[in-house]
Amino acid sequence: MKNCLIVLTLLAAVAARAQTPTPPPAPKPGNIEVVINGVAGFQDTPLQPDGKWHVHDPARPQPPIVTPGNFSQLTPPPSDALVLFDGSGLSQWRDKDGKPAPWKVEDGVMVSAKSDIVTTNQFGDIQLHLEFREPTPPKESGQGRGNSGIYFMGLYEIQVLDCYINKTYADGATGGIYGQHPALANACRPPGEWQTYDIIFNVPHFGEKGEVTSPAYVTVFHNGVVTQNHQAFRGATNWKSPGKYSPHGPTGPIALQYHNNSVSFRNIWVRPVPVVNEP
Ligand code: MG
Repeated sequence: MKNCLIVLTLLAAVAARAQTPTPPPAPKPGNIEVVINGVAGFQDTPLQPDGKWHVHDPARPQPPIVTPGNFSQLTPPPSDALVLFDGSGLSQWRDKDGKPAPWKVEDGVMVSAKSDIVTTNQFGDIQLHLEFREPTPPKESGQGRGNSGIYFMGLYEIQVLDCYINKTYADGATGGIYGQHPALANACRPPGEWQTYDIIFNVPHFGEKGEVTSPAYVTVFHNGVVTQNHQAFRGATNWKSPGKYSPHGPTGPIALQYHNNSVSFRNIWVRPVPVVNEP
């Protein structure tokens, strides 16, 4: 009898539970897209270290629009530059597994496709020149319009995006350090026109215990307009992350991002640049 009562009690408990509606799972942080002033982004992502804005915060002020002049288009490489693309092929590039780069070369231009590509060479402190062209007519909006990117050491991204009459969260716009520092200006040309990046990148340095003794720095000219002025990276760039350093060696490859859009590139070269002249 006692056992029978226990069984009945258990059955009643199971039945009661079955009738209780299961609450919907709580959304994970960083999963709720919000639109503010026509800008899609996130406000449930981590705060930037200065505590003012969330990563990819749509309320963060947009970079002021500056109409660029003409600057460095088709500039011939200096005599000591290593040419990474001159229109003739992808010999300087591989995919991340070391296989031939899957991008297309058409009419002396390379077009992003299938996966990110990385240089076969490793670099430390460098000056980089690169030209890109956004697809026209433009498709989609925000981060979906002409997205690519330049990763220094394969880790630190300067954004490539079509931000010509296309708003996105400020820390994800062209000329910005992705997810960290918006560009000082929006100097985008219209899609279909060639644009230039001239960038100086300094590698980060780490101490014996892996601590950052000097962050990575970057100075960026986009179409001749400074968009980063010796700006420190807060670490490797990532979606929905404020940036984090993990110790690594003194050199790394340059990577170009494939982000489901066909972005064209031409005239890419680098020069190693010491931070300080040896006397
Ligand atoms: Mg990108």
